[in-house]
Amino acid sequence: MKLCPKHPELLGKRYASNRACVGCQQEEYKARRQTPEYKERERLRLLAWRERNRERARALARKSMAKWYENEENKKARVAQSIAYARAHPEKVLVEVRRRQTAKLRALPAWANSEWERFFAREVYHVARRRTLLTGVKHVVDHIYPLRAEWVCGLHCAANLQVLSEAENLRKHNKRVPSMEDNYAPTLCTWFA
Ligand SMILES: [Zn+2]
Repeated sequence: MKLCPKHPELLGKRYASNRACVGCQQEEYKARRQTPEYKERERLRLLAWRERNRERARALARKSMAKWYENEENKKARVAQSIAYARAHPEKVLVEVRRRQTAKLRALPAWANSEWERFFAREVYHVARRRTLLTGVKHVVDHIYPLRAEWVCGLHCAANLQVLSEAENLRKHNKRVPSMEDNYAPTLCTWFA
């Protein structure tokens, strides 16, 4: 068998089909896998596979995530990252937490699931924080129509948010009684239980 000058350690081992040196062929394949075209094709192939096998892809992702979290260093890094994010974007975190809470109360309407709603809510929380800092008086975000009242409930949406001082908010204490002249129909829902 003819030795390959680049891979004499393989003792001339060659593929039967094309007589190519096994070492050279492997190197060629490896180089091909490094090209951007190949990587892009593989990325699309993986995306298509995930699309066809959603449940399996989800299970695999969950499994690898769980494994990743088993590492204490990873877990610590992830927690630190979350804290840093919350510090840098307090309004974003508040808005998402509030959305999860109000969804549980069934006060989060499907139509309020827009980037505009989130933007508006972030701005409202921002105003509350700025007023607190500027006046030294604690201000909070309030639902004009309370989310939980006797017979009619407000919704968690932009039109139902306002900024009040904490004292005003405590005075109000879920006592807002809706009247016909108010123009807040889209912020209300009625329980017919
Ligand atoms: Zn070779």
